[in-house]
Amino acid sequence: MEQQQIGIFGGTFNPVHNGHVLLAQHYINVLGLHNLLVIPAKTPPHKLAPELAGEQLRLQMCRLAFADMPQVQVSDMELRRPGKSFTVDTVHALRQLYPKAQFYLLVGSDMFLSFDRWRQWQEILSQVTLCTAARTQGDLVRLRDYANFLNQYGRTMVYDFPVAEISSTAIRTALKEGKDCSGLLPEKVYRFILQKNLYRGQDEDESRK
Ligand code: ATP
Repeated sequence: MEQQQIGIFGGTFNPVHNGHVLLAQHYINVLGLHNLLVIPAKTPPHKLAPELAGEQLRLQMCRLAFADMPQVQVSDMELRRPGKSFTVDTVHALRQLYPKAQFYLLVGSDMFLSFDRWRQWQEILSQVTLCTAARTQGDLVRLRDYANFLNQYGRTMVYDFPVAEISSTAIRTALKEGKDCSGLLPEKVYRFILQKNLYRGQDEDESRK
């Protein structure tokens, strides 16, 4: 039987945006993924999260964003696990569920370049192929150099997908200023944000519930 190819795509998704959706589609295509697990993180260990919207809201926005992509499953496994979200724990939990699968861990270039500071990074590399995508030409050179180092411990892939210049931070700022964000977010997600009045500064506490 063909080995199952599973992508693991974590993030805070605060909120999920078109850059994430596009990236997911690229990876599904180039890696021939059967499944892509989108896993919103609890408080991420590497980020202070002063404007983090409530977990259930971030989860719901991910479900809306990926509803039309049959390969994608949005998982609440990190939200359900007590304490901080460490990738090594997620990978171990997934290995139990899918003992024979080939895993591809999809990370941003900044995360990739600091991978040797992640908790139990060598253990993670023994379980997954680590994949990243450049966001600029300069990135690509640095990523390839660093990949040469990581390749001593496991398998990596560096991609050069067309870049969507979108970030959750820029979207949160624009929403706070009441600017139009259509085109940056999937339409259903944008409507959800407006309906729930998320990321509007004074209503921050509401969005954390
Ligand atoms: P923030 O601005 O809050 O830091 P973000 O937009 O980077 O958020 P995350 O939830 O941290 O979003 O992203 C999850 C993953 O998606 C990370 O690995 C990140 O590098 C990657 N990513 C986010 N936006 C893009 C984009 N426009 N193009 C490619 N990758 C992206």
